[in-house]
Amino acid sequence: MQQNFGNIGNAQFQHIAAREVGAPHPPRIVEVAPHTFMIQPGMANAALFETDEGLLLVDAGCAGDGPALLRAVREVSEQPLHTVVFTHGHVDHAFGLWAFLDAGERPRVVGHQNLLDHYARYSRTAGLNAAVNGQQPGANGRSWPSAPEDFVVPDITFRDSLELRIGGERFVVRHAKGETDDAAWVWAPQRRVIAAGDLVVGYLPNAGNPRKVQRYAEEWADAAEQMAALDADCVITGHGECVRGSDAIRDELLTMAEYLRHIVRHALDGLNAGMRPDEIVESLVVPERLAAHPRLQPGYDRPEFICRNVIRRYGGWWDGHAANLLPAPTAAQAREIAHLAGGVDALAVRARELADTDLRLACHVAEWAFLAEPRSPSAQECYVAVFDRRRDAERSLMGKLGFSDPHRRVAAQRAKSGR
Ligand SMILES: [Zn+2]
Repeated sequence: MQQNFGNIGNAQFQHIAAREVGAPHPPRIVEVAPHTFMIQPGMANAALFETDEGLLLVDAGCAGDGPALLRAVREVSEQPLHTVVFTHGHVDHAFGLWAFLDAGERPRVVGHQNLLDHYARYSRTAGLNAAVNGQQPGANGRSWPSAPEDFVVPDITFRDSLELRIGGERFVVRHAKGETDDAAWVWAPQRRVIAAGDLVVGYLPNAGNPRKVQRYAEEWADAAEQMAALDADCVITGHGECVRGSDAIRDELLTMAEYLRHIVRHALDGLNAGMRPDEIVESLVVPERLAAHPRLQPGYDRPEFICRNVIRRYGGWWDGHAANLLPAPTAAQAREIAHLAGGVDALAVRARELADTDLRLACHVAEWAFLAEPRSPSAQECYVAVFDRRRDAERSLMGKLGFSDPHRRVAAQRAKSGR
């Protein structure tokens, strides 16, 4: 399971950077109900509903997944592509449709009205996205969709919900907020199947991503409860395996909702009690009953990051420490600490010592050493070594990526110093 998360960034970028190359593996196709398929053309899933009038496709994968997805769809049906619903505007869900359009298909495209703002944000923050996502390990490309031709704009948008009729069958598209503010999920009542997009992924919801725009933990819980109430037989997820059987669906979705609500309540209680962000996060305890759920493990995101995201949503940016309101530069702070400690080498020695007993604290000391004297070889080596240990001990992909950052900073410093 861990292995899969580690590949997410890599797969995303390979696909975007070289869409003509196509997906590396043959797509997996699972018939979850009659004429209803989950297709995995790459790292994200698509859902396919075959009707007498044509096909309803929910999501289209990464740009690089397009050809594989088209082949997979044609393996199971010759019907024309009637309608496409994008569950949200992320790169791994809304960018593979070009392969169908190039092949002459002319589906109507449905998306939530906020999808257009999402695309506009991608264009405005292309450099930021390249920097943030380029950090992911193994990336061999850096481009993020930003040019007008990169985006397929929906023909039909909606605000709360939308009913589609295809081949005389009813499909309900509902808006939600979760990882994004433009999310949609599809309910096929006759088949008792939900296509959930990234609202259901089989691990702890990515509601706290440290370097990305606001996530919506409370509304995510709302959506999970709404889905759970439908008594569906199958939920086709945005990634990984689908959820089958009404008991398993209720168990996973209601536990997810409770987990998210627990974090939101803790953050709001703390804010209302006048606590600082660090006090709120430090005092967060997730009940074992929630933390132990096998499909809500923190392999991607962490409860602490979700808590931070709630604090950011309702509070300001100040961390509550007076010195940090208009702080001295971090390098000046670090130099002062090094001075008090008797030099950068003393910090580096202490950081390595602490790494055996308190890795979290060791990271601060190692970072002070590097910030105080970025050109010092001992500070550089210590910085990378201590954070490598932290990264190796970390489960979440988001945490691992953050703890890998010292490599980037030390490499940049070495390039600057010409060695
Ligand atoms: Zn996704």
